[in-house]
Amino acid sequence: MHYFSTNRVSPHVSFRNAVLNGQPDDKGLYFPTVIPRLDDGFIDRLADIPNEQIAFDVIRPYVAGEIPDDTLFEICRETVNFEFPLVPITDKISTLELFHGPTLAFKDVGARFMSRCLQHFSRDNKEKTIVVVATSGDTGGAVAAGFHNVEGIEVVILYPKGKVSKVQELQLTTLGGNVTTLELHGNFDDCQALAKQALADSDLQSQVHLTSANSINVARWLPQQFYYFFALKQWQGEPPVISVPSGNFGNLASGILAHISGLPVKKFIAACNANDVVTRFLETQNYEPHDSVATLSNAMDVGAPSNFVRILEIFGNKFVDLKEKLESVSISDEVTAQTMRDVYKETGYILDPHGAVGYRALADHLETDPDSRGLFLETAHPVKFDSVREIIGTFGATPPSVDELRTKAKVSTEMDNDYDALRQILLSKI
Ligand SMILES: *Cc1c(COP(=O)(O)O)cnc(C)c1O
Repeated sequence: MHYFSTNRVSPHVSFRNAVLNGQPDDKGLYFPTVIPRLDDGFIDRLADIPNEQIAFDVIRPYVAGEIPDDTLFEICRETVNFEFPLVPITDKISTLELFHGPTLAFKDVGARFMSRCLQHFSRDNKEKTIVVVATSGDTGGAVAAGFHNVEGIEVVILYPKGKVSKVQELQLTTLGGNVTTLELHGNFDDCQALAKQALADSDLQSQVHLTSANSINVARWLPQQFYYFFALKQWQGEPPVISVPSGNFGNLASGILAHISGLPVKKFIAACNANDVVTRFLETQNYEPHDSVATLSNAMDVGAPSNFVRILEIFGNKFVDLKEKLESVSISDEVTAQTMRDVYKETGYILDPHGAVGYRALADHLETDPDSRGLFLETAHPVKFDSVREIIGTFGATPPSVDELRTKAKVSTEMDNDYDALRQILLSKI
């Protein structure tokens, strides 16, 4: 198994080099040369297989022997060592709760897997690897927690002061150890621009080994397949319709990949907010990225979704095949908030804004497809978004990890939007 670039200029690489490079030089994305097929027996027996074994069996062909089996099994075990419950909300709709990990969002899975792969591949390096991440809230927390206390790695996070929720800020600023958190006087785009400038600074790169833990890295993308298998393990009846709240489309792309490998799924729904590039593409076949617009489901505010090319690649760039398996809808903030209120009133279930987009898209679909049932991914815990309390008056029960966070002291360094200041901090980490 090798990885090629979706732009087809850069050479094929091994799993190891795909992980270490992150992105091919031609600015495409790495994609596996073959999509492995799981045998039918595996799918039939899912309910009897422990999660860590499912994870190992799913990822093993992708790693292609570049991590020894016993190490890979241990990495899988640590990656999925929390709950992934499938919770019924109505007769027809269940939710796969992906918020039981350390930072209460699905990104924990990819971040934990990737950090351990990077540690394995850089174990012989004398110098430290510094992971630089700019975050608008969710990603930074998951990456920082994933790399926390991982030997040989330093993490530097940049977040925009005053622009992340209270819980997100605590998750970013209370880890300590190998995690340094910078609170920037600026917005998310400023944070991202500074991180990019550091990664492109060849003089700096000659002194410190920098990497980005980018969301397009195959080691973050591929393990997201695991929980689609965990969902089917708990599912009874005909194959479900699966609705995925989508922004950069990595999560959805991994679900479709799992399906091509043999996981029975009737249909996928790309549940989007007002950022509707993909919804429009499926209507018009014109792909027109635009600037993102701010919404309640802010982790999905993406105007140029980077992983969508992987979905096209899965379908061999055949629009008809794609359209048969994938539907996309865009849900406004008004409908998102109304869905949160209605579902809470009718069932007592508390949706976060991202999950609410997924719920609404699925419920609307099932109106037109009354014989089916489905599930949506609840991508983060409601307590991470201050808007939840404003909309429905409560966050529900607070997870113990949040109570614990509230007892910890915030440690961060305030910083102006100034590249030299960042450069000094990075150099001080060697
Ligand atoms: C990142 C994120 C998403 C979007 O996932 P993609 O893989 O980028 O499509 C959805 N919900 C939450 C809570 C997220 O943090």
